[in-house]
Amino acid sequence: MTSVLRRCANCGAERASAGPDEVCEYCHLAPAEANRAMRRGLVNRFGIFLLGTIAFFVPCFLYPPLELDGILIFIGVIFFATIFLAVWVERRALRRQEVELVKRIFHGLVPLPWLLGTLLFVNGALDRSPPQNFQATVVSRFAMPGLLPMHQLIVTSWRDGGLERLAVTRQDFDLFHNGDAVEVRVQSGLVGIPWLFGVYSK
Ligand SMILES: [Zn+2]
Repeated sequence: MTSVLRRCANCGAERASAGPDEVCEYCHLAPAEANRAMRRGLVNRFGIFLLGTIAFFVPCFLYPPLELDGILIFIGVIFFATIFLAVWVERRALRRQEVELVKRIFHGLVPLPWLLGTLLFVNGALDRSPPQNFQATVVSRFAMPGLLPMHQLIVTSWRDGGLERLAVTRQDFDLFHNGDAVEVRVQSGLVGIPWLFGVYSK
């Protein structure tokens, strides 16, 4: 089954005729060349996306949101969706199928980690709201070694009957133990994403 290629893989311009070697009227590339140029663009954008994903972790450590777990799951879904779309575009291009729509969705996802990271950074860095202190008890501790080490104190929640998972520094992690009464300092965030200022011993 061969579908008719209506758009140039490189620039997305409509092709006047669908001949296999017809040069694009807009960017003057033959389909094979257009595919190669498109793939180069794909790799470049994917690099920008990867850098954004790494940069995204900076505000997560500096101004960790209380809902960090949910935010990390969200960015994880975006991460794998973007990889999936990049592979899909590549495969469609190899089969000489239309790539324009999938390519546009991919392009739309590329800046997301940068935007989210900037949002979290601004939320914490420009936050001038007074910190609020809450009493809590350490219930459990969780450490994940690796490239991006994660240290969490799991404490009783001041919001409801549940638990809060607090992303803390290595030093704070070593300082507290199960059963310790602690004071949790929270700031409400410039754009309304509450974040953890610190954990202190009572
Ligand atoms: Zn073109």
